[in-house]
Amino acid sequence: MARVFLHQNTFLLELTEKYDELEEEEISRIAKCIEKNVECNGNIFRWISSTSGIYDTEKDNIGKCANCGTWTTDCEESNPVKDLNYGAKLKGVLFCDLCLPKDHPIAF
Ligand SMILES: [Zn+2]
Repeated sequence: MARVFLHQNTFLLELTEKYDELEEEEISRIAKCIEKNVECNGNIFRWISSTSGIYDTEKDNIGKCANCGTWTTDCEESNPVKDLNYGAKLKGVLFCDLCLPKDHPIAF
């Protein structure tokens, strides 16, 4: 029997209003920096895969928490962005799981 430890990270980069070729090159450069093996205490964490996407706050289920400003997705609406912190709206205002009232079902 073999066992593996799989750890996933999500990085977020806020794009300027005008996403252009220069930013695309910068994103590609950043991705190459991330996609490396990492050694820690003699163990090699091998880079396996990366995925990326561009989201639009007007079209996609993504926004900033009204309290702390972290990017989050409303898990009670359709098509939540699964790699973001889950949040929900209270009276139409989006909050992340850390800022929702502690009695909210998804509060962390
Ligand atoms: Zn928050």
